Amino acid sequence: MFVYQTKTQVQAHLAKHIVLNKSIGLVPTMGALHQGHLSLLEQSLQENDITVISVFVNPTQFNNPEDLEKYPRTLENDIEKVRSLSSDIIIFAPTPEEIYGNNVKATQYNFNGLEHQMEGAARPGHFDGVGTIITILFDIIKPTNAYFGEKDFQQLQIIRALVKNYDLGVNIVGCPIFRQKDGLAMSSRNQRLSNEATQNSTFLYQTLLKAKELFRTESITTVKKFVENEIQNNKIFELEYFEIADEQTLITATEKKEHVKYRGFLVAYIEGVRLIDNISLN
Ligand code: AMP
Repeated sequence: MFVYQTKTQVQAHLAKHIVLNKSIGLVPTMGALHQGHLSLLEQSLQENDITVISVFVNPTQFNNPEDLEKYPRTLENDIEKVRSLSSDIIIFAPTPEEIYGNNVKATQYNFNGLEHQMEGAARPGHFDGVGTIITILFDIIKPTNAYFGEKDFQQLQIIRALVKNYDLGVNIVGCPIFRQKDGLAMSSRNQRLSNEATQNSTFLYQTLLKAKELFRTESITTVKKFVENEIQNNKIFELEYFEIADEQTLITATEKKEHVKYRGFLVAYIEGVRLIDNISLN
C-alpha cells in the first residue's frame, strides 16, 4: 500500500513507471470513500497499469466555509477501503499547504458557459475551484485517464471542457452513478443522514424514475412541474432545483428537440444535507 502526502514522493514513485510508458489512471476524490468511489477505482484498475486515487478536501471549491469545515475527513478508513480493493493502488493525500502553499485561491476558467448553469449558479466560484484542483492534480500525476462520476454530471462535462480548452491531454472517463439498493445515489454527505432520512431519500430516485417514464409522452414543462410538485408536497424535503437540460450544453430546455439527449438534474435538502442526483431522460 502506498500513501503519499507530498508531490515529490508521489512523483518519485510514478517516475519509474512513466519511463516504461505505463498507463496511469487517476481517480480524484475528497475522501470519505464509499462504493461509488470504489466503482471508479475498479474501472481504473481494469483499464490502466497504475491507479492513483487522490484524497483531498479542496478548499477552493467550497463557497460555504461551514460546509468545508463539516465535510467528513476519514483518511484511515479510506486507506482500509482502498486496501480491500487492491494493495497496488497509490493514495495521494496532500495537505492544503502542499497543494496551494500560502495562496489558497482559485484560477478563473472558461468552461464555454457550462459553469453558469445549475450548480454554477447555486454555488458561485465552485467550478473555478474544481478546475483549479484538477489542473494541479493532472500536472502532478500526469494521468493517461482520469475517472469522474456521472453523479456530478455537470462537473464531468466541465472537466471535459477544461481538458479541451486548456489542452491538458488527459482522457476523461465518465462512470455511471452507483446507487444503494433502494436507489439513493451514494454520497459522502449521506453519512450525515439519520437512518430514517436515508430510508426516506429513496423517494428522490423514485421520483426521477417516474419523471423518466413521463418524459416519453409528456412535455418538458409537464415533467418539470410533476417533479417539483412531488417534492414540494413531501414535507421532509426542501427542493433547491429540478431542471431538465441538454446533456451537452447543460442549457435548461423548455421544448423537446430531435437528436438531443436530455437529463433531469435534482438538488434537494433533507435534515439540512444537500443531496444531488440526475437521470438520463431519453
Ligand atoms: P467526491 O469525493 O464527492 O468529490 O467524488 C469524487 C468522484 O467520485 C467524483 O467524480 C464523483 O462524481 C464520483 N462519485 C461520487 N459519488 C458517486 C456515485 N454514487 N457514483 C458514481 N460516482 C460517484
